[in-house]
Amino acid sequence: MRTDVPLLTKSDYMAGLQCPKKLYLKKYFRELEAPYNDAAKARMAEGIEVGHYARLAFPSGVLVSAGIEGDPIAVTASLMATADVIFEPQFVSTGRTVRVDVLQRTYENRWHVIEVKSSKAPKEGEGPKEPHLEDLAYQVLVLREAGLDISKASLMLLSRSFTADENSPDPTALFEIIDCTSAIEPLLPGAQSRSLGLLHMLARDTAPTVETNTYCAGCGFHGHCHVDQPEHDLVFLPRIKAAQVTELRQQGFRTIGEIPNSFKLSPTQMRVRNVVRGGSPYIDERLGPTLESMKYPMYFIDFEATKWAIPNYPGTESHQAIPFQWSCHVLERPQAELVHLEFLHRKPTDPRHAFAETLWNTIKGAGSIFVYSSYEWTTVKALAKYNINFASELCALLAEKSVDLLKIVQDCIYLQDFNGGYSIKQVLPAMVPGMSYADLAIREGETASAEYKRMIHPATSPEESAHIADNLLAYCKRDTEAMVALFHAMAKLCGDRPEELPNAKLPSPDDTQHSQLALGL
Ligand code: SF4
Repeated sequence: MRTDVPLLTKSDYMAGLQCPKKLYLKKYFRELEAPYNDAAKARMAEGIEVGHYARLAFPSGVLVSAGIEGDPIAVTASLMATADVIFEPQFVSTGRTVRVDVLQRTYENRWHVIEVKSSKAPKEGEGPKEPHLEDLAYQVLVLREAGLDISKASLMLLSRSFTADENSPDPTALFEIIDCTSAIEPLLPGAQSRSLGLLHMLARDTAPTVETNTYCAGCGFHGHCHVDQPEHDLVFLPRIKAAQVTELRQQGFRTIGEIPNSFKLSPTQMRVRNVVRGGSPYIDERLGPTLESMKYPMYFIDFEATKWAIPNYPGTESHQAIPFQWSCHVLERPQAELVHLEFLHRKPTDPRHAFAETLWNTIKGAGSIFVYSSYEWTTVKALAKYNINFASELCALLAEKSVDLLKIVQDCIYLQDFNGGYSIKQVLPAMVPGMSYADLAIREGETASAEYKRMIHPATSPEESAHIADNLLAYCKRDTEAMVALFHAMAKLCGDRPEELPNAKLPSPDDTQHSQLALGL
């Protein structure tokens, strides 16, 4: 048994609830964790910014360790006698510790604990998220054990009714404080036993044995825990639940192909199992007629958007999607040269009007407009909601002419190498060998969003901004190139004659006409 068990922090407790092995590895084998990517770092930076704004709502608050020297626990103890609002005070009790976002005196020695989150407040009729309540319950547990009289516990979340104007956000309007006292009281006994259990686990000499499952997605120790993962592991079956994975493993089945016919699956899951078992691709007979119904000129479009927890532009709300970039490949007629058009808003101003105007002027003459997922449709509907010029026209156009390639793939195709997923990043290398995102500096949307913010930030040099812009353009362009290549591969799968294919030659940077819409924006 270890005798040097470190204090259990709030984030340790939350990690341990998700997976005890994750907590153990975090504490003793941090070097095994994958480094944070740019998107994760951007989320952390945003959390810090939200915390800063939340503190502005309490003008009399005193921040522990900001300009105050000394041990935070000792500083906290001295402030408790005088301050009515303390930010980041630290308390310890029986191997556990918490730093509280906001501790507010309600009456003499009674306190209100407030946890700040960068999430939006729940919708009407809904309650706070369960992990947020667990987080708050752990804090109340430790604070009470440390001797504090906690009379109230709340979450401070971004308000759904706040809309930014030209001025700096009013922090009292930006946030909503939700009293969760009665919701967390019943959670306290569980928090007590679970946190003690985690401390006991941390005293062991070896990490607990935890079977990998669907909940491992996104864990920083994924690489470490999955070295022996079989090809076609059960977790790759679309929409399989963790309990089903456990049940099948208990019966001795490890891979999708081994799932017995008697096990209840959805039609999509059955299709995936049969492809994995038999090895032959699934091609639905509806694929050919579906592709033949498409009309020239064909437009393949993709958008990138970002969002700010603290709204960045007048008239916008917290976490509202702000599209800043589109890419479009155009095929006028069979065998025509593919034309590429693109837009990227490079200035630190609201990009939505220019985005919608340039897009409308580009795609209004389309025969069929190809998208991958409903994201583009959702984005233009959101623009219309905020009365952005040309957004209503775009909505009407997409309603009439958009074709979702994702839905066609989901309905009509499955190849073993999809590995249970239908995202374009999974489907593309399987359908178009040799084509992927691996050569790009930006390879997924969340990083594109973070990089866009960096590009327009005043502290970024013009050279670095130009470099980021090139990376963003390359990423968005690859998405529409991928869609064209995918369409071509789909046509090939259903045996179209080469002259009926949209363009037998796959697009590449060299053979694609390129035109950036500057429009003086
Ligand atoms: S990869 Fe899975 S089993 Fe391993 S630490 Fe993470 S959640 Fe736990």
